Amino acid sequence: MKTCFFDLNYEELLSILKEWQEPEYRAKQLWNLVYRNLNFVPQNFSNIPKDLREKLDETFEFQPVKIIRNVSSSNQQANKYLLGLTDGKKIEAVLMRYRERTTICISTQVGCAMNCAFCATGQMGFTRNLTSGEIAGQVFFFVKELEKEERKLTNLVLMGMGEPFHNYANVMKGIDLINDPEGFNFGERRITISTVGIIPMIEKFTKAKRQINLAVSLHAPTNTIRNQIIPINKKYPIEDLLAACKAYTDYTGRRITFEYAMISGLNDSIEQAVQLSKLLRGMLCHVNLISLNPTRKYDRTGSSRESINNFYSILDKAGIPCSIRLNRGVDIGAGCGQLLAQA
Ligand code: SAH
Repeated sequence: MKTCFFDLNYEELLSILKEWQEPEYRAKQLWNLVYRNLNFVPQNFSNIPKDLREKLDETFEFQPVKIIRNVSSSNQQANKYLLGLTDGKKIEAVLMRYRERTTICISTQVGCAMNCAFCATGQMGFTRNLTSGEIAGQVFFFVKELEKEERKLTNLVLMGMGEPFHNYANVMKGIDLINDPEGFNFGERRITISTVGIIPMIEKFTKAKRQINLAVSLHAPTNTIRNQIIPINKKYPIEDLLAACKAYTDYTGRRITFEYAMISGLNDSIEQAVQLSKLLRGMLCHVNLISLNPTRKYDRTGSSRESINNFYSILDKAGIPCSIRLNRGVDIGAGCGQLLAQA
């Protein structure tokens, strides 16, 4: 098995080259070729001697994710990709274009252990963590795809398959790689991590004081409802979760986003909107309301436009910053895990 080149940070690359008795400047040269010029084909590393190019080619994988399927939404704004990993496992990622904004949503695990009732990935169970190289590799895959249509990546969200905070070290190493000012230099402020609410990791993330945006999948205003759809809520209940979120906004001065998937007859009543606004009053936050994408193994449906609007009005009147998100990719099954579930 080849080593994924993107799994290495600069120091790790340097130490491999030292072992190979290459001069130190080669590491810098390679770093530039790969992360500045986005050249992923060792044969084309023209300023590197031929024997080293061959050795690099034999040792390293520069394509940790390969395309299996690409489905385009009817309005052409979203594409959902089914991607294959080198061990044959599959993940999903989504590309969204909206005016000048080009966002990709990538995966952090094969499957997910959180088992949220409405989530197609949760319904599949957990297979394995992605490596940092597979996480960063998805970004480079899309950067290359986007070159073909002369678009530049502007935003990155870690909201694909998996729970990023169950794979904290690899997620951060992957982000460090794409963020490296000597390399791809993709700003942290353009990155969002979404978590189901793993409190110890929210605390760790808070202390790290990064500029990466944080989103938390809240989806309910009470433990009774949240327990029904998000099993981990029994371990990390709402009051503790919100205390950790408050500590995050206090310590970092950064706004937190709450995701709220609106499920008809479950979490979308006027009363629940009032409960939610009381819960979030005074917090440095923003609520994203999104209608549930129906999945095969969950029999409830998304809320009507009218219920979403009513829910929104209550939050808005209570002074909770809030927006209604369009499900741009519904017709391509762009909800978490849905494409793979259909495959
Ligand atoms: N595990 C992380 C990130 C992956 S899911 C998390 O829980 O945040 C990304 C977002 O999609 C989460 O807010 C998740 O709750 C939401 N989601 C999953 N399935 C969905 C569905 N069928 N409809 C709407 N949102 C869904």
